[in-house]
Amino acid sequence: MTVFLCCACGTSYEAETAPRRCRVCEDERQYVPASGQAWTTRDALAQSHRNSWQQIEPGLLAIQTVPAFAINQRALLLQTPSGNILWDSIGLLDEATWRLVSALGGLSAIAISHPHYYTTMQDWASAFDAPIYLHAADEAWICRPSDHIRLWDEDALALSDRVTLVHAGGHFAGGTVLHWTADDGAGVLLAGDIVQVTPGADRVSFMWSYPNMIPLSAPEVTDVAERLSAWPIERIYGAFSGQNVRSGGQEIISRSAKAYVDRITGRPATDPAQAPADP
Ligand SMILES: [Zn+2]
Ligand SMILES: [Zn+2]
Repeated sequence: MTVFLCCACGTSYEAETAPRRCRVCEDERQYVPASGQAWTTRDALAQSHRNSWQQIEPGLLAIQTVPAFAINQRALLLQTPSGNILWDSIGLLDEATWRLVSALGGLSAIAISHPHYYTTMQDWASAFDAPIYLHAADEAWICRPSDHIRLWDEDALALSDRVTLVHAGGHFAGGTVLHWTADDGAGVLLAGDIVQVTPGADRVSFMWSYPNMIPLSAPEVTDVAERLSAWPIERIYGAFSGQNVRSGGQEIISRSAKAYVDRITGRPATDPAQAPADP
C-alpha cells in the first residue's frame, strides 16, 4: 500500500494505486482543479518541497511548505510546559522536519481545526506517538484511519490548564479553534479558517466555502461568534502566512460578525451610496 496525497487539498489516502477521486475536493467547500485531480506521494513531495519555519511569537512556531503545496496552510507548533501541540497539519513531514520537531521535544498532541487540514495527520501522529484530537461532528471526513485519532464532542475540551479546544462550527460542523493563554496572560486564538483573518489583519470572516465563495447564513455566523464570546482573545493567528491579528481579537470577531450579519440580511451598517470623503 502507498500513501497518496491529493495535490489540490493535501488529503492523504492509502491505496495500491492513485485514487481516481478525492472526496474532500468533490465537496463544495473545496474544488477539483479544472486541469483534473492530481496526486503525489510522501517520497515525491519530500523531493520537490521543503518546510520553512517562522516564529510567530515566543512559544509559537509556524511550519509551512515551500514552494506552496495544496491549500498552502501553515501548521503551528505551540510549545507549552506540558508538551508541544501541533495545531493543524500539513502534508509534508520530511526527515528535516522530523528531526527538528524531535529536537524540540516531539509532540504531546495534535489538534486540527477541520478536514481541509487533516492532510497526513496520521503520519505525524505515528512519527511522534501523539493523539490527534478531532471533533466528532466531522468524523465522516476521515479518509485514512489511525489508532491515534481521539474524537471529542463537547463544547470545549481542555488539553492542559492553558490550552483548550473550542467547538465553533461554521465552515464545518465540527469546526474547532484552539484557545491558549500565553505567557503574558493574553488570550490567543489559533483559528484555522474557522475564523478567517482578512488581508488587513483588522477583520475576520466566516464562510461555508472559501474557494467557491459561498457564505454562511446569518444565524450560523452569529452562532460562531457567540461560541467564542466567553473567551478572552487578544491575538488571532489564522491558517495562512501573515494572518496575524496582534491585538483586540475579541472585539474584532464580534464587530466583524455583526457587519457580516448586517450585510447578509440587507442591513449594511454603512450606506453604500456614501463614498468615503477624500483624506
Ligand atoms: Zn483533494
Ligand atoms: Zn477550510
